[in-house]
Amino acid sequence: MTVTDIAIVGVGKIARDQHIPAIAADPAFRLAATVSRSGGVDGVENFDTLTALLAARPDIRAVSLCMPPAVRYAAASQAIAAGRDVMLEKPPGATLAEVHALQDAARTAGVTIHATWHSRHANGVAAAKEWLSGKKITSVRIDWKEDVRKWHPGQAWIWQPGGLGVFDPGINALSILTEIMPHPLHLTAATLSVPSNCATPIAADLDFAGPDGLTVAAVFDWRLESGEIWQIAVETESGRLDLTEGGARLFLGGTEQPVDGPGEYPALYRRFGDLIAARASDMDLRPLVHVADAFMLGRHVAVDPFHD
Ligand code: NAP
Repeated sequence: MTVTDIAIVGVGKIARDQHIPAIAADPAFRLAATVSRSGGVDGVENFDTLTALLAARPDIRAVSLCMPPAVRYAAASQAIAAGRDVMLEKPPGATLAEVHALQDAARTAGVTIHATWHSRHANGVAAAKEWLSGKKITSVRIDWKEDVRKWHPGQAWIWQPGGLGVFDPGINALSILTEIMPHPLHLTAATLSVPSNCATPIAADLDFAGPDGLTVAAVFDWRLESGEIWQIAVETESGRLDLTEGGARLFLGGTEQPVDGPGEYPALYRRFGDLIAARASDMDLRPLVHVADAFMLGRHVAVDPFHD
């Protein structure tokens, strides 16, 4: 088996919680270096800047970009220009134009680019997609609620332009929705609740429409004080489907179904390895399109200031 040397850029919460263990468990990858301003990972060579890494380590063929989305474009462009394969954490960028530009640049350079959506690899999602295929769907209700202080402790970037606010987790729900729905949807209305001292929303209500009167209502809220609710309920003419716990559990007509899988991040690295081997790319931008539409069409309502 070919082993790809890979570097993680931005060693924060998600890199430590998920990327480092997933790379360690995947025989197709070896964590060869990091780019971190805060020190990186014990026992792994660290560079202060991506420029320094790209110059010093031409043997590192792939980079996994785990920094906040607002600064991902510059790093991805640099890595593509240096001929490296690129994995993008979600959301893949801060604007649609920049991720389209990355897609074009990767194509021109002949490198792999992968816009990852980790929630699509939750264990119940593939089976949900299969069950919904060919069914007449009448409505969908999404509740995606959590405590921002638990999941984004001290992260100032989520409240700044490009940080997406509650769409940072909400886009995970949209990534599942766009994966399992057999039809395209479009946003029809949105209300974004923005703390008076922040640039991004702490909560959002979204309405979508689809073919034949299909409606989708989504509620994203970061103000839940304990636990989390990450669920999608789909009503069809042939019965009801529920995905709960972020897509990890699947219920049909209220009965839990057995589902299995390697786990979200192991599956992402397996997919990245397959794309590299095939010299292919995967940039499904539909979840980001819905978020952009919400910022474009949504009514902005000022709510209480947020203090971490
Ligand atoms: P984080 O804890 O703030 O970590 C991001 C890391 O990126 C920082 O620790 C820093 O690493 C680097 N960084 C921060 N600001 C930067 C800047 N201006 N320029 C360059 N590098 C910068 O954030 P996170 O929670 O890991 O989230 C990062 C990405 O992962 C986001 O896109 C998020 O949506 C996604 N994600 C997060 C979670 C979660 O549960 N938190 C889950 C899934 C996906 P160094 O100090 O090493 O330079």
